[in-house]
Amino acid sequence: MQYDAIVIGGGPAGSTAAAVLATKGWRVGVLEKEKFPRYHIGESLLPYGYFTLERIGVLDRMKASHFTRKHSVQFVGASGRASVPFYFSQQLAHEASATWQVLRSEFDQLLLDNAREKGAEAIEEITARELIQPAGAVTGVKAIANDGAPREFHAHNQAFSFRVFITEFPQLKGDMTDCLIGNLFRDFRPLFDAVARFAAVPEPLPHGKPQATGEVLEPCR
Ligand SMILES: Cc1cc2nc3c(=O)[nH]c(=O)nc-3n(C[C@H](O)[C@H](O)[C@H](O)COP(=O)(O)OP(=O)(O)OC[C@H]3O[C@@H](n4cnc5c(N)ncnc54)[C@H](O)[C@@H]3O)c2cc1C
Repeated sequence: MQYDAIVIGGGPAGSTAAAVLATKGWRVGVLEKEKFPRYHIGESLLPYGYFTLERIGVLDRMKASHFTRKHSVQFVGASGRASVPFYFSQQLAHEASATWQVLRSEFDQLLLDNAREKGAEAIEEITARELIQPAGAVTGVKAIANDGAPREFHAHNQAFSFRVFITEFPQLKGDMTDCLIGNLFRDFRPLFDAVARFAAVPEPLPHGKPQATGEVLEPCR
């Protein structure tokens, strides 16, 4: 299997990178270990995501979706007190100030479908295991399908579209491969480990009430 770029992971980052590259005419392969739609945490979008959604051509689908519109956020501290609402429109005089509270299973499916429509080949239920780097440079990926079958994917342009993220994180001075491994093979790179905890907030909240449709309450503990 020969591509110009291989993207590991079909979440929002991967499917966005794949859509952008495919739009530029690159042959892009996306390897995704899960079968979509699948559950994922991280539903509450922020206004500036609008411009990325616009760039990859899914804005109309977002506007037509059933996702709840999100106009503001309130932070709820450990004491249970909520902050004053932070209305995005007071900071950003643009329709981007109304964003969305999405269902990630549906949102991620929409983005992956969009990458496919742009020409990317997204393969689900396949897990990237190892980078192929014959002379130090990454030229592909060894993967394993969920049925246990080993697969190899090769790419001309050293494979990966993650350079954009590295430039945003200058502290990650390492080469692209380092960052890629850090992000995708966390087991082997404890430096990049992340721990997160989330819990359901009892309904109704014991304090305050959303003051407008689309107000989102964020518990901070
Ligand atoms: C508790 C919590 C709450 C959050 N809340 C918010 C929020 O409210 N709003 C917000 O914007 N963000 C939130 N986030 C962050 C948000 O979840 C992430 O920023 C977002 O999911 C990152 O997208 P991604 O595409 O980089 O990675 P992911 O969405 O994690 O996608 C990565 C994909 O890669 C696949 N994959 C992984 N390894 C392999 C492999 N080896 N081979 C093949 N496929 C692989 C996975 O199956 C997955 O589909 C939250 C995160 C946490 C932990």
